[in-house]
Amino acid sequence: MPELFIGGQWTAASDGQVREIRCPADGKLVATVDEAGPQDAAAAVGAAREAFDNGPWPGTPAAQRGRLLLRVADLLERDKAAFARAESLDTGKRLVESEYDMDDIANCFRYFGNLAASGGTDRVIDTGNPETDSRVVHEPVGVCSLITPWNYPLLQTAWKVAPALAAGNTFVLKPSELTPHTAILLMGLLKEAGLPDGVANLVLGAGAVAGAPLSTDERVDLVSFTGGLITGRRIMAAAAPTVKKIALELGGKNPNIVFADAEFDTAVDFALMAVFLHSGQVCSAGARLLVQDELHDRFVDELVRRAQEIRLGGPFDKDARTGPLISAAHRDKVEAYVAAGLAEGAVLRCGGARPEDPALANGYYYPPTVLDECTPGMSVVRDESFGPVLTVERFRDEAEAVALANDTVYGLAGAVWTQDGERAHRVAARLRVGTVWINDFHPYVPQAEWGGMKQSGVGRELGPAGLAEYQEAKHIWRNTAARPQRWFE
Ligand code: NAD
Repeated sequence: MPELFIGGQWTAASDGQVREIRCPADGKLVATVDEAGPQDAAAAVGAAREAFDNGPWPGTPAAQRGRLLLRVADLLERDKAAFARAESLDTGKRLVESEYDMDDIANCFRYFGNLAASGGTDRVIDTGNPETDSRVVHEPVGVCSLITPWNYPLLQTAWKVAPALAAGNTFVLKPSELTPHTAILLMGLLKEAGLPDGVANLVLGAGAVAGAPLSTDERVDLVSFTGGLITGRRIMAAAAPTVKKIALELGGKNPNIVFADAEFDTAVDFALMAVFLHSGQVCSAGARLLVQDELHDRFVDELVRRAQEIRLGGPFDKDARTGPLISAAHRDKVEAYVAAGLAEGAVLRCGGARPEDPALANGYYYPPTVLDECTPGMSVVRDESFGPVLTVERFRDEAEAVALANDTVYGLAGAVWTQDGERAHRVAARLRVGTVWINDFHPYVPQAEWGGMKQSGVGRELGPAGLAEYQEAKHIWRNTAARPQRWFE
């Protein structure tokens, strides 16, 4: 069966191109899928435009749209095993992590399904004039291009698809060319749940070829993109001539601030999880450890001891604690950042070389790596390596911790570890990031907005603001006693 999904039909790439998908854990072929060209992207946009302009979905009552999303959540739970397996084969991540992701994805569909079903955001306005009926209603934006990355393929997709549908939009989805399979499965579920043809469309392929037309086509009203900063800038520029609505979820270089009074074992434990989860391929990874001077030596010694025990392995290796990087090119990039850090004076405390285990030789593995004595100017501190690389910097006091934490173009997330509740809140208030964790790292819920300040992005996903991204407010004013005004007399 072909894998592009356009106007409710499974469709092959019009020029017959295909792409091999290989598992990053062992290089084995997962499948060969259709590779869309610009003409396929244009056809998908055309189908979404037609479904928006002439189809039933935008005018379907919100409660009914919400019920469809709840059905999708149920179907996802029914097919959880197949989805989790597909996600792990594409990304190389442990099966158990993909299973967590699928639970989160079902919750995301449920949240937006319930939000849509609860009706709600329309307002009656008191104009002060009894002879008017004035209300603000929320309508769908139109045709949405949804472009997503490879690290949490279906999760990032669900954060866009669920609110876009809840609000009554139609869309073209382009997942990362490296991880297409759960998006393909999702199209099948949306059809099974009863979504009208043309509302959901899928193109697969390279960003510059299949993705680029989605941010330039004048028939597209909104582009929602999750991915790297450089691509985000490109998409924003490409969308400017037609003044599309834009939502960008970009990278992060997230500080994890540990004060000397932090609960030691918990803070070490979470510092490991903050940065080495999914081998650091997490936009909110706590990749910059800022640790107070007097705690530094003890904290880093224990962290390094435990980092060296993290076992690498493939998706189905029950003893593995984290998996490979997504590609050979990505591992090269991570290695280059580590080499640059060492050249600039960082001290290697663990990791820093590809594993020698022959069982891992065919995958793109890289071990948990700790670089100590780092300084703000180093490229490994400044840029997002998106790998299992922790940089350690020292601070003396609260003011210096905040200054170091904010010394970045990014502003996605950050954490503070202290037993002093007042200090925790003072620091949280001063961090220029979209999410702050106090004595925790990484949790999120679909009810709370997610997104970045500064160059980590534009707009918010999840929460009520995540739905509002996909809505246009329209003010409708009715004069209930219209008569001549005679303004010019
Ligand atoms: P990427 O920017 O390389 O690609 C993301 C998507 O954009 C892919 O589907 C790709 O094919 C497409 N693309 C590339 N060039 C394009 C173009 N010119 N026009 C249209 N589409 C194009 O990112 P990636 O390597 O897949 O993902 C990793 C990045 O994603 C990291 O920087 C990470 O921080 C970020 N990310 C952010 C969040 C968040 O919530 N803020 C979440 C996950 C990942």
